[in-house]
Amino acid sequence: MGSDSCLFCKIVRGDVKADIVYRTPTLIAIKDINPQAPVHVLVIPTRHLTAARDARGEEGTQLLGRTLAFATEVATELGLDAGGYRIVTNSGADGGQTVLHLHFHLLGGRRMTWPPG
Ligand code: 5GP
Ligand code: ZN
Repeated sequence: MGSDSCLFCKIVRGDVKADIVYRTPTLIAIKDINPQAPVHVLVIPTRHLTAARDARGEEGTQLLGRTLAFATEVATELGLDAGGYRIVTNSGADGGQTVLHLHFHLLGGRRMTWPPG
């Protein structure tokens, strides 16, 4: 849980460098270091929560809503509306989550497949 050792908290603080594409007081959007599509942006609340399952109650609901809405705004800004895109969040081991700080992946610029691996 400790945000001292959390990679995305470090990026939010500026202790670890990242390619920040958009920033608000409560959210950042950064380029993924290992992109899986021509556009692969991570939308990250500045507040440390481990995963979507920890965003509970009215405050958590608002955080999830704002984060998802911001991801769609970033998609628009990056010109993805016409072609479409995918937004996904991984929770826990079975979800494939590797960084334990809530984030949404915004993927676009190529045709996605389903089911995911
Ligand atoms: P998860 O697997 O938790 O859903 O997603 C974590 C994402 O963070 C991965 O897509 C991974 O490539 C990305 N990532 C890991 N370390 C870094 C980093 O230091 N900088 C950036 N920009 N992305 C990272
Ligand atoms: Zn964190």
